[in-house]
Amino acid sequence: MLKRLEISGFKSFAKKISLEFPGRVSAIVGPNGSGKSNIADAIRWVMGEQSLKALRTKDGEDLIFSGSNVASRIGKASAELIFDNISRWFPVDLDEVVISRKSYRGGENQYLINNSPVRLKDVVEMLAKVGVGSKGYSIIAQGAADSLLAASDKERREMIEEALGLKEFRLKKNETERKLSETDNNLAQARVLIDEISPRLKTLSRLALKVKEREDKAARLKILETQYFAGELNKIKSKKQSIEERKNLFEKELAAAKNSIFKLREDQNKEEEVAPASLNDLNRLNLETAKLDEIETKLTRDLGRVEGLMEAELETEKLEYQPVTLSYAKASLENLRQILKDGKVSEALNFLDELIRKLISGKIVSQQKTSVEKNLFLKKQEKDIKNQLAEIFQKKDQIKEEINKLNFAIAGWRERLAGIKQGLAQEEKKFSAQEEIFRSVVLEEDKIGLEENQVLRFAEEAGIAKDSLAILPAGPVPDFYQIQKLRREVESIMNVDPEVLKEHDAVSLRHQFLTTQTGDLEKASASLRDLIRELDQKIDRDFRAGLAEISEEFNRYFRMIFGGGRANLYLVSEKKEKYNLEGENSQNGDIAENDAYAGCAISAEIPGKKIKGLNALSGGERSLTALSLLFGIVAVNSPPFLVFDEIDAALDESNSRRFANIFKDLSQKTQFVIITHNRETMSEADVLYGVTLAEDGSSKIISLKFSEKTTVA
Ligand code: ATP
Repeated sequence: MLKRLEISGFKSFAKKISLEFPGRVSAIVGPNGSGKSNIADAIRWVMGEQSLKALRTKDGEDLIFSGSNVASRIGKASAELIFDNISRWFPVDLDEVVISRKSYRGGENQYLINNSPVRLKDVVEMLAKVGVGSKGYSIIAQGAADSLLAASDKERREMIEEALGLKEFRLKKNETERKLSETDNNLAQARVLIDEISPRLKTLSRLALKVKEREDKAARLKILETQYFAGELNKIKSKKQSIEERKNLFEKELAAAKNSIFKLREDQNKEEEVAPASLNDLNRLNLETAKLDEIETKLTRDLGRVEGLMEAELETEKLEYQPVTLSYAKASLENLRQILKDGKVSEALNFLDELIRKLISGKIVSQQKTSVEKNLFLKKQEKDIKNQLAEIFQKKDQIKEEINKLNFAIAGWRERLAGIKQGLAQEEKKFSAQEEIFRSVVLEEDKIGLEENQVLRFAEEAGIAKDSLAILPAGPVPDFYQIQKLRREVESIMNVDPEVLKEHDAVSLRHQFLTTQTGDLEKASASLRDLIRELDQKIDRDFRAGLAEISEEFNRYFRMIFGGGRANLYLVSEKKEKYNLEGENSQNGDIAENDAYAGCAISAEIPGKKIKGLNALSGGERSLTALSLLFGIVAVNSPPFLVFDEIDAALDESNSRRFANIFKDLSQKTQFVIITHNRETMSEADVLYGVTLAEDGSSKIISLKFSEKTTVA
């Protein structure tokens, strides 16, 4: 229930006034221009009216008291509507709901609910909750009593909707539509963005896939390579082991051979140390023999030379030959015997050869007298040499004999030494053969070492840590061809710049985000559409049902005021075609679905008159028709309060009475504030206020009447 209105600085109300509305009907009276309508304006203004025309002004600042010759202008206009909320018809847990609006010069506007600043929207929603709105029929302005008639079909529909308490849902629908359009915009934007990044993502995904493939293959390659290299190393290891074994064996054998060589050498040394003393003699004798041989050779050469000379001498002389005589032969044989006796074997042979030659020729050379002396010298030399030779032969024979004796004495020792030497030679031969083999094993070892290094190097090049090769992995060791093939495959897949991967992750994330967002927005959009459909259905259903009732009540009040006739409301399409409220006019389709009806039209038939249509009505008839409709609306969906501003001006006396009776009746459910000049109306009021314009140009309020029934809070 409307409890009080306070105005300050608004229009003609310079100073603060307070109007209590304790009864069901409050009337405001006063002379023209005193400021009565400004009170209705103030109520409209507090309720959030934005239209300057509706507030009967051209400029927002005109709403603030502008001053007069005597009063100065004011900087701020404010008004407050105080509602009693003990019944909690406003859904807030407060006994009073105070709605305020303030306006300052310069244009600032403030809205408050219970002194807390709020938005205009909050005020409109708050009032809509109790079926009150600034537009429509809540305040029926002066001269606009027939706004319900003058309104377009569409506007009328809105007014009726508001009267039926559907404004709240209409506002909700508008808000939902706004959200939907925002959602759809965002959705469209997200889709555009998805479309924009999709081709790039496709390219990047392809590249990322390549990277993955390469990585997978590289990982597989690494496993195979590890297996392969570990396998190779394992083979090398067993080879090394066998080499090591062989090496050890040969080392032992070599050591043993060395040892036996050493022993044999020792044996040899020992044997040589125990060499018999006669060995020295033997050596000396041998040396002596050698010396004698030397001398013998020299002497033999000398002899040859002497004999040669002797022969040459004979040939150069006139040789005288004589036949070989027996005595010569005898002497010669005797000579031979002597030579042999002397041990001169070679000389004996020479002598024998000469003798044979002489015997065969049968002649011998007889000595020449001319060279006898010479021959004699020579012969003496020959004899000397021969004597020396014979001496040497003799000595040699002696030595030989001694040597033979000595040799016999040391034969055993010699045999032993020879045995040792032979054994040593054999051992040494064996040792060098073994050494040869050992060297080849060492060579093999070096070779396998190189092989090992190579495998390790290859492994390192393939990026495989040495540690991971220590243990041979399970599974078959792959062949090299397999590895080569896989390696070629890895290399054939192009290497992708890591920046591309980063970009892929970012773009993919963005795409995912946008896709999720799109999904969310689609869901939101769908549920908003559902909500709009539900609201449409509710508004339509309630509106059609309410409209049918209002039409009936309209007809009832119309007939009551005019004493007959017929009036009703009907829905029209954009093409002004009539809709059947019962929904029988099915050719127009489901109204809720397409919202095809444009508005709400009026038909009125005055009794006894053939002419239909509002244009044919007189000013009074029109005013009465408008009031019938207003009463019809109020009867169906009683607003909490209603402000009438001189809507009863056109009524004659009998209609004034009817009017008074009707609103008296309606005031059971609706609180009335009526600005009037009509006495019938004033007589029905519980409270009567007089408004006057003071000399300073500001409006003043005088309380004229309080009914005994009413109590002022
Ligand atoms: P009527 O009975 O003829 O309809 P009314 O009592 O309804 O008259 P209003 O229209 O409420 O009169 O008041 C008009 C008066 O308010 C005028 O005198 C006008 O000068 C005054 N007025 C309007 N705006 C302002 C303002 N901003 N400052 C001072 N006075 C103002």
